[in-house]
Amino acid sequence: MSTAAPSWLESGAPFVWRPYCQMQTARPPLAVARTYGSRLVLEDGRELVDGLASWWTACHGYNHPHIADAVRRQLGLAPHVMFGGLAHEPAYRLAQRLAALLPGDLDHVFFAESGSVSVEIAMKMALQFWINRGVTGRTRFLAFRGGYHGDTLATMTVCDPEEGMHALFAGVLPPQIMGSLPVDDAGLAALDAQLAAHAHEVAAILVEPLAQGAGGMLFHDAAVLRRLRALADRHDILLIFDEIFTGFGRTGSLFAMQAAGIEPDIVTLSKALTGGTLPLSAAVANRRVFEAFLSDDPGAALMHGPTYMANPLACAAANASLDLFETGAWRSDVARISAELAEGLAPCRGRPGVADVRVLGAIGVVEWETPVDVGGLCAAFADLGVWIRPMGKVVYLTPALTISSGDLERLTSAIRRLAGALD
Ligand SMILES: *Cc1c(COP(=O)(O)O)cnc(C)c1O
Repeated sequence: MSTAAPSWLESGAPFVWRPYCQMQTARPPLAVARTYGSRLVLEDGRELVDGLASWWTACHGYNHPHIADAVRRQLGLAPHVMFGGLAHEPAYRLAQRLAALLPGDLDHVFFAESGSVSVEIAMKMALQFWINRGVTGRTRFLAFRGGYHGDTLATMTVCDPEEGMHALFAGVLPPQIMGSLPVDDAGLAALDAQLAAHAHEVAAILVEPLAQGAGGMLFHDAAVLRRLRALADRHDILLIFDEIFTGFGRTGSLFAMQAAGIEPDIVTLSKALTGGTLPLSAAVANRRVFEAFLSDDPGAALMHGPTYMANPLACAAANASLDLFETGAWRSDVARISAELAEGLAPCRGRPGVADVRVLGAIGVVEWETPVDVGGLCAAFADLGVWIRPMGKVVYLTPALTISSGDLERLTSAIRRLAGALD
């Protein structure tokens, strides 16, 4: 087993600008040779259990043969065609299936290639919904502290203004209206008053339902979502759920909205949509939103169309991923993972420096009192044979829903060791 970096890493490194990375001081990344199941196989021969499923995408594990076969088949037919004026079976079938899986009349699927872009599209839909109906001045969004909706310019404005990754740009970007989630009656009254003051200028309320992900893995209960639906209705404001993190079983229901029994007017999906195989996202609107764009006036159309919109390979992967969800096995998988996360992380509770331990569905979180050294911890975890990359104060696990109990135990025991809570 050699620990020398592969030659491609050393020769290419000066030319690659990495994500969220201080390029002057960051440790070199781990070089991955291949993946399978819940495992990353490194170029030096080491094999790590993946605790994150590659930013929550690889929900069925890596290299799932059913998805790989579907992509290979589509590759032989048509890897890509433009979506303007042309249609293909993978996208049309996927749109129909997503509409059938989503509750209510969330039936109108607009595809894009990344989560941030789908949020941008949802925001555009909401803005133009009002313009098309002849209502002026609805130019802002109400978003929540702790939220994360992407890294593009418009989505940065709806991320948490302080905790988020984008505080740097405060003052550059137009401020949105920041609220606190209505977790109780007092919060409900406060948000109601905030909306009453701003209703004339708010196009939509935007929230990650049940779990705010990249903003700190913060959980709230379904009653919060029912309150938001009621407030949106009372003030005649659209409601957008960003289910890019929560969609496809992560919180225990296929979509987080189903735990609340209500629907937003628009929902965004990405991350696990293709089972971690190819980039794809969607903004899905209900009938009311869609119908606001129907007109004899071409100018009322939604003016958006990414070049790689509805890429056939990505849609084929997504259809294959939905086949796997349709077996229903994910339900018991999430329940098992949830119980094992709760048991495996519980000993961290009350340890010095640990502020909180929480689990929701297949999300396990140990929150420290102060921000952790991300690079140092990643390296320490890799030495223990696991891939875990903390965010801020939060060390979390979002494994593939197919991870074995043995692999999950390796992940939780690595975190217990960090917390000084190894049995
Ligand atoms: C990851 C994420 C996004 C952004 O998706 P990208 O594909 O990284 O652009 C937006 N919203 C939520 C809730 C996310 O988790």
